[in-house]
Amino acid sequence: MLIGLCGGICAGKHAIAEYLIEHQGFRLLELASQPSSRTITDEPDDHLRLQASQVSKTGATPPEHIFQTPESLLDFVTKHWQQRWVTTDIADGETLDRFILRPFFLLVSVDAPVSLRWKRFSDRCWRRQLDPPDLEKFVLWNDRHLYEKDIGRVYLTDRAQARLFNSSSSLEELHQSLQTLDLGDEQRLRPNWDQYFMQLASLAAQRSNCMKRRVGCVLVRERRVISTGYNGTPRHLTNCNEGGCPRCNRGDGGGVGLSTCLCLHAEENALLEAGRERIREGAILYCDTCPCLTCTVKIAQVGISEVVYAHGYNMDESSAAILKSAGPSNGLVYLQASSE
Ligand SMILES: [Zn+2]
Ligand SMILES: [Zn+2]
Ligand SMILES: [Zn+2]
Repeated sequence: MLIGLCGGICAGKHAIAEYLIEHQGFRLLELASQPSSRTITDEPDDHLRLQASQVSKTGATPPEHIFQTPESLLDFVTKHWQQRWVTTDIADGETLDRFILRPFFLLVSVDAPVSLRWKRFSDRCWRRQLDPPDLEKFVLWNDRHLYEKDIGRVYLTDRAQARLFNSSSSLEELHQSLQTLDLGDEQRLRPNWDQYFMQLASLAAQRSNCMKRRVGCVLVRERRVISTGYNGTPRHLTNCNEGGCPRCNRGDGGGVGLSTCLCLHAEENALLEAGRERIREGAILYCDTCPCLTCTVKIAQVGISEVVYAHGYNMDESSAAILKSAGPSNGLVYLQASSE
């Protein structure tokens, strides 16, 4: 795999690269800086030297691990994907576009409070007997580095698949969290089946038109999607969020006047769409919210084998009890919402 680290000045990307190299078998790949990617040309040389010298203390990069173009670096990793590589040299969106297409690549961003980054930077200056910049000057560098139009790094960090906030003042603490985090875990590169279908359910939820809550659902059998559903008013009726359901639009508390609600639930829509014939034994229902009681009895009736949900609702235990007694079933599986 290849990890790309990006982040603000002294946020800790070089410290993280060093950790990966020293403790997790990663090796550094360098990209010779491209003229177009040189972001800050008027910064003091001291600063640039500091930036460049941080990783190199782990040992000079062999020349075969220094690349002139993003393509040549990617070609190299394509041939050596089973080894672990890290780079801190992704400097612009165009380069990132190329990297992020590859299945072996993970972009990790790292951020830290600006006061702490200034302190780290100043400490580093003192160690090299250089005068540190005052906070205002550092903030100005930082603003350019992150937010300058077209070249600011914030356009990169926004696209990171994993985001770290490095607020620890000691390297030891950082190493401990990195050990727990295990960035080199290959599973980060690709969602597993449960994560994949749950993400599809969350995507379906975005189509919801119910004023009360967005919910999405996906029905799956043998790892194939049978149907999807989201909640809202039935077809040909005005959408709930355009006033279609008076009950939902009254804004009374949750659960009030449920019997007068015109909205179909995401699970109901997915079950209706699939039809009983296609559901059969072994079907799994993914829902981003735990099914309510009325949906649960329908789920039990059509013979769904397993229900996976990401967020609790106010009747999880009663729903679980119904599914349990409806067996044969693998029951209710609670998936922790992904923190990334
Ligand atoms: Zn509604
Ligand atoms: Zn309603
Ligand atoms: Zn329901």
